[in-house]
Amino acid sequence: MSEQHTQVVIVGGGQSGLAAGYHLRRRGVDFVVLDAQATAGGAWQHTWNSLHLFSPAAFSSLPGRLMPKQPGEEYPTAGHVVEYLSDYESRYELPVRRPVQVLGVHRDGQFLRVDTDSGAWRARAVISATGTWSRPFLPAVPGRADYEGRQLHTISYRRPQDFAGRRVIVVGGGNSGAQIAADLAYDTELTWVTQRPPRFLADDIDGRALFDAATARRRALDEGRTDSGGVAALGDIVAVPSVWAARDAGLLKTSPMFVRLDRDGAVWADGTRAPADAVIWCTGFRPALSHMSPLGLRGPRGHIATQGTRCLEEPRLHLLGYGDWTGPASATLIGAGRPARDAAREIAGLVGMSSLG
Ligand code: FAD
Repeated sequence: MSEQHTQVVIVGGGQSGLAAGYHLRRRGVDFVVLDAQATAGGAWQHTWNSLHLFSPAAFSSLPGRLMPKQPGEEYPTAGHVVEYLSDYESRYELPVRRPVQVLGVHRDGQFLRVDTDSGAWRARAVISATGTWSRPFLPAVPGRADYEGRQLHTISYRRPQDFAGRRVIVVGGGNSGAQIAADLAYDTELTWVTQRPPRFLADDIDGRALFDAATARRRALDEGRTDSGGVAALGDIVAVPSVWAARDAGLLKTSPMFVRLDRDGAVWADGTRAPADAVIWCTGFRPALSHMSPLGLRGPRGHIATQGTRCLEEPRLHLLGYGDWTGPASATLIGAGRPARDAAREIAGLVGMSSLG
């Protein structure tokens, strides 16, 4: 198969990959972005229809270009983010190749070799920005395989009309669980199940405050001060308008987590049952790192050990956008820029293009 050369390969063309491309371009580093999707927009192409961001447009922007306000919406929709990312990509003429699936990253002397489903690339450095959405997580709940109703993960949920009049169990006390429960609260027989009682952030707190909290926490940890608890200390659920409307209408009651599923639905420890036509698992995601397995890297809790964004065991590799371990709030639109800038600066130094300092 053919092999091409470049200084840097960015794996993943979502917001993190684009932010990295923006900063590499500014430093005059040669790079390519390889993205598995057929079209621009990363994970935002796969959300449920009613999803709104938890920050206003101006606070959901990548470096260099403010997200324009969406007419009639204070909190933009996912569709608006897709348009913004698509425009960002073409405005900065970022060299994104798609659809290209990266299969593995290998050491190859002084280079890293990136094997894909359409040939290989040889590069001095690799930025991995593959996100989490391609790795939905489902907990190991007894009886899950016996349940005869429909089971789906957040990633496959689209709209309440698909469940109208049905008995639906939504599992998960985070933002996805709350928003999907709110979506379903009016037209279905809803049971919302959470491991602990839901913790709503105050109604006047949105993504801006979350970003500030994440940044303050990172700074405290870096300086050896007491852990402020960051975002987790504020609560779990941002009360976007759809959530507070359903909550204030008394429609967002929760039940504790059930102990197992049977053929018909959920069963609690005291024998209580809830027959259900569908169970929607809003139980999160894991970082999509399998393409890095040839490098044999290790880290805590299935992560790869990093200092900033740089992999400790392979300094030619940087990781972007997976969560706080790759930069404060790095898995958000507004938080993607700073770690991308830092990674680009380090990589520019590595490949001898450090003119911006
Ligand atoms: P992604 O957008 O997932 O992009 C990664 C890209 O890499 C994808 O195109 C994928 O196909 C590709 N890829 C993966 N593996 C490979 C491979 N092996 N080879 C080639 N390409 C590959 N953030 C906010 O700022 N505001 C919000 O309001 C907000 N709301 C959210 C709501 C929900 C329900 C969720 C789950 C997240 C939300 N986020 C929000 C978080 C965050 O912005 C997103 O998760 C974001 O999509 C992460 O961007 P990314 O570029 O890191 O990854």
